[in-house]
Amino acid sequence: MRPALAERPVDPEVGVLVPFAVEDDAGHVDHARVVKRRATRCALSRICGMCGDSLEWPLAFLGTPDEVEANTFVFPPLHTACAEQALATYPALGDGYLGRPVAPARWALVTTGGFDIERPADRTGDQRLLFHPHSVTSTTWTP
Ligand SMILES: [Zn+2]
Repeated sequence: MRPALAERPVDPEVGVLVPFAVEDDAGHVDHARVVKRRATRCALSRICGMCGDSLEWPLAFLGTPDEVEANTFVFPPLHTACAEQALATYPALGDGYLGRPVAPARWALVTTGGFDIERPADRTGDQRLLFHPHSVTSTTWTP
């Protein structure tokens, strides 16, 4: 585990590390939602959505089959090691993790050289920041 990930707070209710992207600046945690301010920081400052440390290449995204199909991800970019750690932790817990109210049937770990971001088109629709990997090098699926 990367040192910065080991230093993340532990959610006392479920005993797992709190990803950087699901904790707001006041320390409130909702594993089922990506905090938009955190997603923006991950995108603009190129930091990991799990550990909050600077990203290194290749980057990884975790997503659902639909996200892979659309090449559009909600959870911010990750270190590959942090993505692997996340997959070893959260899917077994069922619904409500990694920014998803409902767990997908399978998760994909996508590695890429970079990404583009898509901001909300206006203030009325989907307000999530979306990530589009632009040079995918591998896609690995959970069983
Ligand atoms: Zn990380």
